[in-house]
Amino acid sequence: RQAKANGDRYLFHSSAMTAAVAGKLSMENQLRRAFDNEEFVLHFQPKVSLATGKVTGAEALIRWNDPATGLVPPGRFIPVLEETGLIHDVGRWAMCQAIECYLRWCDDGLAGVRIAVNVSSLQLRNRGFVAEVAKVLSGDPRAASGLELEITESMVMGDINHGIDSLQAIRNLGVTVALDDFGTGFSSLSYLARLPIDTLKIDRSFINNVAVTTEGLALVSTIITLAHSLRHTVVAEGVESAEQARLLRSLDCDEMQGFHFGRPVPCAEFEALYLAPLPA
Ligand code: C2E
Ligand code: MG
Ligand code: MG
Ligand code: MG
Repeated sequence: RQAKANGDRYLFHSSAMTAAVAGKLSMENQLRRAFDNEEFVLHFQPKVSLATGKVTGAEALIRWNDPATGLVPPGRFIPVLEETGLIHDVGRWAMCQAIECYLRWCDDGLAGVRIAVNVSSLQLRNRGFVAEVAKVLSGDPRAASGLELEITESMVMGDINHGIDSLQAIRNLGVTVALDDFGTGFSSLSYLARLPIDTLKIDRSFINNVAVTTEGLALVSTIITLAHSLRHTVVAEGVESAEQARLLRSLDCDEMQGFHFGRPVPCAEFEALYLAPLPA
């Protein structure tokens, strides 16, 4: 009896586990096939200078154009790419695509903006990553001045010395580095001061409150002052209203990104909307 009960329980667990594993496997297989079939696409969202009102750059954001369901947002598949190690290939592809888009803008006489690519912590921790970035840039001498990499605090936390060395090596290539989602991690301020970065991006959750509470405004003001004292450029993420933009201008924020200025769009559309000179 006992044995049978255990057996039943085993069977129950077994089938539940099989379903979970099968679900994950099929997602993995789908993503692998998606990569082979070139179903991933990058969309580009503008960053705007507060001083000039001009577009200074773009953030490349990946989407999966699933033929069955349409555009799938990255939150739904990046974790699976990371779990399966596919993130290394897809991440390299994203850098190459961003540079290809940048060179297209250069060819059209529209140089002067950088494209920022998000980097997963697994990529940054990979010992061959800096060499990989160098290789991606080696195809065209203009490429390095068009690339920025976005990292998060947690990426550097594990092995801070290796993280700092990698970031410095990346900057030595002419690539700039932005610290993404600032304020959501819990790294110490002494770490922040040591990080060789160019730009600090204030997380959307803080920008949400900038026009809502005095505390929200005070927090963003303090972050901007801190970033400037470390000589970083400050970008506000997720700016959705004119009121938020007005307050950020009064706080001396350098750049803004958000739906108020533009949604992420494909490379050619970005060029037409944000870079091409308006007809006279
Ligand atoms: P992130 O790097 O913080 O990117 C900003 C996210 O905020 C994007 O979501 C963007 O569409 C969204 N966003 C921009 N403006 C606004 C706004 O005004 N309001 C609101 N509510 N949202 C706004 P998305 O494209 O879904 O990307 C989510 C995250 O996925 C990114 O966050 C980034 O961490 C990751 N990701 C995207 N592309 C890549 C990639 O190529 N590689 C890696 N490793 N991660 C990526
Ligand atoms: Mg980002
Ligand atoms: Mg961000
Ligand atoms: Mg964010």
